[in-house]
Amino acid sequence: MNIERYFSILETLPKNVRLVAVSKGKSIEDINALYEQGQQIFGENRVQEITKKYELLPKEIKWHFVGHLQSNKVKYIAPFIDLIHAVDSFSLLKEINKQALKSNRIIPCLLQFHIAQEDTKYGFDYKSCETMLQNPSFKTFKNIEIQGVMGMGTFTENTVQTHQEFQTLVSIFKKLKSTYFADDASFKEISMGMTDDYLIAIEEGSTIVRIGSAIFGSR
Ligand SMILES: *Cc1c(COP(=O)(O)O)cnc(C)c1O
Repeated sequence: MNIERYFSILETLPKNVRLVAVSKGKSIEDINALYEQGQQIFGENRVQEITKKYELLPKEIKWHFVGHLQSNKVKYIAPFIDLIHAVDSFSLLKEINKQALKSNRIIPCLLQFHIAQEDTKYGFDYKSCETMLQNPSFKTFKNIEIQGVMGMGTFTENTVQTHQEFQTLVSIFKKLKSTYFADDASFKEISMGMTDDYLIAIEEGSTIVRIGSAIFGSR
């Protein structure tokens, strides 16, 4: 683990930008060590792993689910998850609402958009997201709170392209905000930026960066 790098990253973050330390594949000891340095938010992308870590680590930690989430596994994280970053379908949102109700919670969620050139990455396009937001049953989902959007840029050295992809996500955020969430103060988050592109993401208006290997070392 690279504690110096961790603190130097923190220094580069504007006040309104939160850091999710992405700890997938990393040990309980490493996570605990970073928690003791003051880091509160940790991100994981596997249900089994996050559930186990939740059980073993201090309950003050806020756990974010950053990866693709299968509907049939929502029930395992619903009791404790602090933010689900990558909602990419109506059926997933419906299941999150159902499980949140069972846990007597309101679960914060972000809508994931496909902004990269690579077609391996999940996410809505604007049109399919609108279809969901206009679906009458969307309004009946009382146990979720849509707090904003999330996206992953293409893995590339081409910084012009990365800038453009993040600009696309910001414009999607603005359009959704003015069209569907104008009166909703909690719709305010843009989750974008990882180890290789978080500085670009911050320049473009990210409010949450998700950083793993820069802090914990490569996987
Ligand atoms: C692994 C992962 C990250 C962190 O990636 P690094 O390049 O290690 O910083 C961020 N977001 C998601 C969705 C991830 O799966």
